[in-house]
Amino acid sequence: MRHRALLASLAGLVVLLVAGCGGGTPTPTAPSSPPPSAALPPEPAPSPTRAVPPKPRLRPLPVKLPAGLIRTTGTDKVALTFDDGPDPAWTPKVLDRLKAAKVTATFCVVGRQVRKHPGLLRRIVREGHQLCNHSWNHDLDLARRPVSEIRADLVRTNREIRRAVPDAKVPFYRQPGGRWTAEVVKVAKQLDMRSLHWSVDPQDWAKPTAATIEKRVKRSARPGAVVLLHDGGGNRSATLAACTKLIAGLKRDHGVARLT
Ligand SMILES: [Zn+2]
Repeated sequence: MRHRALLASLAGLVVLLVAGCGGGTPTPTAPSSPPPSAALPPEPAPSPTRAVPPKPRLRPLPVKLPAGLIRTTGTDKVALTFDDGPDPAWTPKVLDRLKAAKVTATFCVVGRQVRKHPGLLRRIVREGHQLCNHSWNHDLDLARRPVSEIRADLVRTNREIRRAVPDAKVPFYRQPGGRWTAEVVKVAKQLDMRSLHWSVDPQDWAKPTAATIEKRVKRSARPGAVVLLHDGGGNRSATLAACTKLIAGLKRDHGVARLT
């Protein structure tokens, strides 16, 4: 009897050992194993025998800006444009400043940001501002890509805008980085968008102080200026801090109006 009992317990021990050696579910929290992504070897280079379609070459940027860009308002009044949002940290505050100053602006929105913050887009439209398509993902080279890719990007962005605000008007397109080509202007036109450039760029994206942003705008704003500012794409505290005085100055010197 004792002998059989000993055998049975030995058999049980073997079963336990086997199960513990990999028969069960692996524990994801094992401290010795690195996260799966870190353990992955780098992507192997494609073998020469595999048919890899060549990446389409980017068309060169023209030396001069192409024809057909809006660079001034067409009146003596100036227009404000805010790019790269909507951004939850900065767009609401910019909207507050515009509301306090009783002016409207044009927001050049990035599709991916719209997808993340549709409520902000709704607020932009509700408060009477205009919309401008600024591409899906702020692709600086978009205008240099094949026309089919340009069109797909612009269509996708407008679709996302209209998912947030059905029937939203998107009268403008602005190429990221201002790196325009005649092709992107043409595609935008086919999609009923006019290509919106600018005439005053205080380079707020490079994070100068608020005083510098204000000074640069004041110095270069002429009647009919289109002023480029940013409410997204990074810390916009200096732009925001410049807004109140900057807008008051433009209102006093020229008047601020929406683009027509
Ligand atoms: Zn931009």
